[in-house]
Amino acid sequence: MESGTFAEPKPSPLALLLLGQNADPDSERGVECPGGLPPASDENLVQRVRAAREILGDRLYILGHHYQRDEVIQFADVTGDSYKLSQQAAAHPEAEFIVFCGVHFMAESADILTSDSQQVLLPDLAAGCSMADMAAIHQVEAAWDVFEAAGIADSIIPITYMNSSAAIKGFTGRHGGAVCTSSNAKRALEWAFAQGERVFFLPDQHLGRNTAVRDLGMTLSDCVVFDPHKPGGGLSSDQLRDARVILWRGHCSVHGRFTVESVRDVRERVPGVRVIVHPECTHEVVSLADEVGSTEYIINAIAAAPAGAKWAVGTELNLVRRLAIEHPEQEIVYLEKAVCFCSTMNRIDLPHLAWTLENLVNGIVVNRITVEPEEARWARVALDRMLALPGLVARD
Ligand code: SF4
Repeated sequence: MESGTFAEPKPSPLALLLLGQNADPDSERGVECPGGLPPASDENLVQRVRAAREILGDRLYILGHHYQRDEVIQFADVTGDSYKLSQQAAAHPEAEFIVFCGVHFMAESADILTSDSQQVLLPDLAAGCSMADMAAIHQVEAAWDVFEAAGIADSIIPITYMNSSAAIKGFTGRHGGAVCTSSNAKRALEWAFAQGERVFFLPDQHLGRNTAVRDLGMTLSDCVVFDPHKPGGGLSSDQLRDARVILWRGHCSVHGRFTVESVRDVRERVPGVRVIVHPECTHEVVSLADEVGSTEYIINAIAAAPAGAKWAVGTELNLVRRLAIEHPEQEIVYLEKAVCFCSTMNRIDLPHLAWTLENLVNGIVVNRITVEPEEARWARVALDRMLALPGLVARD
């Protein structure tokens, strides 16, 4: 795809860890910023995917997350955020095979929301999410023990972001809480404070903090960060008792890269620019931005802007590139100067998609994602509580 006038960010000095090669134990999974994407896949693969799709017909439904590569997104039956995609899969019961071009927690959510006769496949099992991986169920159960020891567990309502494992969603459902997306986090927190005194927000500390402070008018000191790697979360019982929001120490490796300097720099480079960022960015960045919103919010804001509008966009690069190409009448730049794709999202490429579909044609289901029934039941409870929030519009 032509990149039009869009200026590609500069390569980062960090190494790209491709498909597990040269694993660097010091690096955080998903944080690596490649100097660019690997070259476009073999043209023959395009023909092979087309042919497999044709044979599978309505039995196949391909979901493409907004952050996927162009070479994959061209084959998506529907594009969107993780929640919309799962809903779309459930709305197509004739599709026996749901191929989720996204990351692991998304495929789990699709399995929870679709019928038993539908099978969800993730073309590359290594496509995880660094944020979701920062909250393991045994760590979260241990945190709850800390809250019980501090005598506050009964006053806490857990809220988990959609970007979490099925196990964490199940934990949330079992403990009276709900799932939220980045567009309904405010409503979810309001709902939670009507049920209890405190909120335990998982796994993205930035979305939790931004929502509590920007949307609910709390102070930064109303929030504490629970670090699962420290005894007692690194917090005293008094600190826990004084807190209104207990944030899990997790973050998105992509959105966490945008800095205050990125914002200041782009305002100097592009006079009159509007800075628009996702609420997974840090509170400092969000505080300096002109607009803050979910992926869908960003897409819609740019679509509604007049010709000549100037934007610096702080979200995943594949999406920003596409927006720049779709809106040549506007000036759209990436907020960060260094390249930053979501490296785990980018693991889904044309070779993996072709491999998945050709196996299906041969009657072999590869990389099926299933959620254990009891876990799925409680995760569904937490998802249903989100759906029952008043005036809900679910987007991530
Ligand atoms: S962009 Fe961030 S939250 Fe989304 S899948 Fe990648 S690491 Fe996870």
